Amino acid sequence: MRYIGSLDQGTTSTRFMIFNHDGEIIGRHQKEHRQILPQPGYVEHDALEIWQVTQEVIAIALQNANLTGLDLAAIGITNQRETTVVWDRMTGQPLHNAIVWQDTRTGQLLGRLTPEEKAKITYSTGLTIAPYFSGSKMQWLLENSPEVQTALENGSALMGTIDSWLVWNLTGGINGGIHVTDVTNASRTLLMDLETLDWNPELLSLFAIPREVLPSIKSSSEIYGLTAAEGPLEAGIPIAAILGDQQAAMVGQVCFDRGDSKTTYGTGNFALLNTGTQIVRSHYGLLTTVCFKLGDQPVHYALEGSVAVTGSAIQWLRDQLGIISHAAEIESLASSVADNGGVYFVPAFSGLFAPHWRSDARGAIVGLTRAATKAHLARAALEAVAYQTRDVIDAMAQETGVTLTRMRVDGGITANSLCMQLQSNILGIEIDRPSVNETTALGAAYAAGLAVKFWQDPTELKEQWKIAHKWHPDLTSPLRSEGYETWKKALSRTLDWA
Ligand code: ADP
Repeated sequence: MRYIGSLDQGTTSTRFMIFNHDGEIIGRHQKEHRQILPQPGYVEHDALEIWQVTQEVIAIALQNANLTGLDLAAIGITNQRETTVVWDRMTGQPLHNAIVWQDTRTGQLLGRLTPEEKAKITYSTGLTIAPYFSGSKMQWLLENSPEVQTALENGSALMGTIDSWLVWNLTGGINGGIHVTDVTNASRTLLMDLETLDWNPELLSLFAIPREVLPSIKSSSEIYGLTAAEGPLEAGIPIAAILGDQQAAMVGQVCFDRGDSKTTYGTGNFALLNTGTQIVRSHYGLLTTVCFKLGDQPVHYALEGSVAVTGSAIQWLRDQLGIISHAAEIESLASSVADNGGVYFVPAFSGLFAPHWRSDARGAIVGLTRAATKAHLARAALEAVAYQTRDVIDAMAQETGVTLTRMRVDGGITANSLCMQLQSNILGIEIDRPSVNETTALGAAYAAGLAVKFWQDPTELKEQWKIAHKWHPDLTSPLRSEGYETWKKALSRTLDWA
């Protein structure tokens, strides 16, 4: 048994990767699943499709690497966070489509909370009150789905985030599947108390969620259970890690110590700063969240700046405007002009997340002149990725009094060298990308490997981190000063819109 398997269930696709002891990828397979958009503001996934895709990618990745499940010392799971699944423990069928983190249908439900209740929730969970998190999605399902209500009356309803759905299925489903989650996923529900690391009974009653439908909360790195023969793997393989995707990327970037940070550039952008065992409550629009808990070691917390739309703005240029046909084409299009020609693009499609938290914001393209071209818009889109990241990094500096001097990055957009150079110029700091860019999957593998002593301790893992590319800031770039000031003006035009 010489490898660790890592299941990375993301917003748009699911991947299974196999890592060797040096942390190198030796086998992988990935497949997309459908985005179900029933009406504006609604984003759903079919949980059964996700489970089927999961089984397929595991089987094909193993086959590609010429391995079987028995070659795996353990598997780890990382997942899109906040997305909420409800299913029937007797039939194994989902009772409703999963409600995805980007879904904003529960804004009105949250409007029912009093200011005192909101303050209580924020203090206990470290989160702001937003439809983004799972709590109001669970409440919506309980209030609006007759199927969920019937299953609840029969005592057969189970609810959780995607990790719980997958672990339940992998450990046997209707034949004894276990119902667990980890502290990082639970910290995104608006229901878990940051100090006790358990469901807060007062918050459960505010959202009217019966505790018995929820999973039990475990650490991020321990053996929760073994795979069952019904699934895509042989029976008996330890499932030994669960981490929300951003927290997994922290582990994959070996951000084990207080003060370590990374930014992941995917569908959205997520900057996290490890604050050690200290809970830092934000005054500048960041989230306080669990970073990881490795077995019975003390929990580590993080400050998080989440930006809703970065890579998905590039997808929008591709799918809705059709000015590029592949995401990667944006780099040559944006490089064909020397600057943005005065064009700013604020992709506040579903409101703004950190540090603004304005659900009333809607997107805008400003500064257009007759000379503006699609190349200027492409450049403005890449600058928007970088300016939005500057917004959250500045908030982090204000919060902690510590200014970053370099930043570790990962995710799909980091393949775009122009975007990373713009980021370096806009922040005025060095940007470092590691050799394994799949840090999310790597992090889940690391946490699983630590649980079964495939790796001994975090120090051993830190030695594996290797830099693949560095970007140095051009400190004479006007983007850091005038550009950023104009960006803020453009951003203010998007507020009070919805
Ligand atoms: P996720 O894990 O959130 O699905 P990924 O890390 O796979 O995201 O990154 C995918 C995102 O990155 C997509 O939104 C895509 O538009 C964007 N992307 C991929 N390649 C590039 C590129 N070369 N330049 C800019 N954006 C890119």
